Amino acid sequence: MISKKIKDVMQSGSAIRAMFEEGKRLASIYGKENVYDFSLGNPSVPAPKAVNEAIVKIAQDTDTLALHGYMLNSGFESVRATIADNLNKRYGTKLNFKNIVMTVGAAGGLNVALKSIINEGDEVIVFAPYFGEYNNYVANVGGKVVVVPPNPPTFQPDLKAMKSLISKRTKAVIVNSPNNPTGVIYGEDTLKELGAILKEQSEKKGEAIYLISDEPYRELVYGNNQVPFLTKYYDNTIIGYSYSKSLSLPGERIGYLVIPDEAEDCDNLLAACGVATRILGFVNAPSLQQLVIGSCIDEKTDVSAYDKNRRLLYDALTEYGFECIEPQGAFYLFVKCPIEESKFVAKAKEYNILVVGGKSFACEGYVRIAYCVSYDMIERSLPYFKKLAEDTLK
Ligand code: PLP
Repeated sequence: MISKKIKDVMQSGSAIRAMFEEGKRLASIYGKENVYDFSLGNPSVPAPKAVNEAIVKIAQDTDTLALHGYMLNSGFESVRATIADNLNKRYGTKLNFKNIVMTVGAAGGLNVALKSIINEGDEVIVFAPYFGEYNNYVANVGGKVVVVPPNPPTFQPDLKAMKSLISKRTKAVIVNSPNNPTGVIYGEDTLKELGAILKEQSEKKGEAIYLISDEPYRELVYGNNQVPFLTKYYDNTIIGYSYSKSLSLPGERIGYLVIPDEAEDCDNLLAACGVATRILGFVNAPSLQQLVIGSCIDEKTDVSAYDKNRRLLYDALTEYGFECIEPQGAFYLFVKCPIEESKFVAKAKEYNILVVGGKSFACEGYVRIAYCVSYDMIERSLPYFKKLAEDTLK
């Protein structure tokens, strides 16, 4: 008999995964080219060629025992040093290898960070709309998610509301910018204020409230937008980074945590993350992929392809009358539903358009459109979005 906890997760399901499955079903009936599946954040830009070349070269050139053996739970020191140097160059930080813990993607990193700091019953504040998996990650460690309500139309975090939700059980706040599902980048002034509030509240509590910055979309930024580096605004920051989107490697499961020296209990926290990596069963991040990252540190994905998609979809949908905020980063468009959310999602499906309802992100009344798809598919979908607008915007 399976456990009650996992049964609950299975029953509540993932609307994103369910839509993805539905896309496959519809494609088998109507043909792939007649289904417009915008459900999943699976990068459509291939990983840079240099990544595959590095995989081959490392497999050929590295001593096999060193390549495939057990290692420190936090990962190869050389790779962590390369990452630290790269961050120092880009953001003027003073990190070294010991401030970096290699992780199994952002999901692995968040679970490791939470496992390292959360006691049973501790509270973790999140800003709606947010990536629904946070609920599971926090529940995994016996914590409780406390949700700051959405703040439309800008979707910048509502700091006044956050402050009012801080309690003596608050242990962490999670932010995600560029944001899934809105595409919004949190502004520097907002982050400075967030840092100031957390500093004041940590002092009041006599213990750090950690700021966990979930950053799989850090490199996916459009125009002149910048993503501030959060350790500059608040000492007790833990950054969770991933190469899933930035190098199109979601299946390879590779990322890292950054914990700066300034963070309270830094050395213990870093050691705890190593232990958490071990006891959660990861043991260490995949060794080959760590070395690949070490040798591809300056590689970048082709953001211009996502930007082209963004322009096409945003311009068309707003022209048809839909309301949405122009994304500054990531690869999602968050569109206001002109009718009740579930009816809108169902209506879209009648045209074989698959999108995910805002309810999955604790923000009912919207849909998320993942535009990390082919340009061609977006072009083909537009006449149906137009019909959808005509049907629902009256
Ligand atoms: N955090 C956010 C906001 C995401 O959108 C995702 C994946 O879509 C993740 C974390 C998990 O990323 P990873 O594949 O690196 O575990």
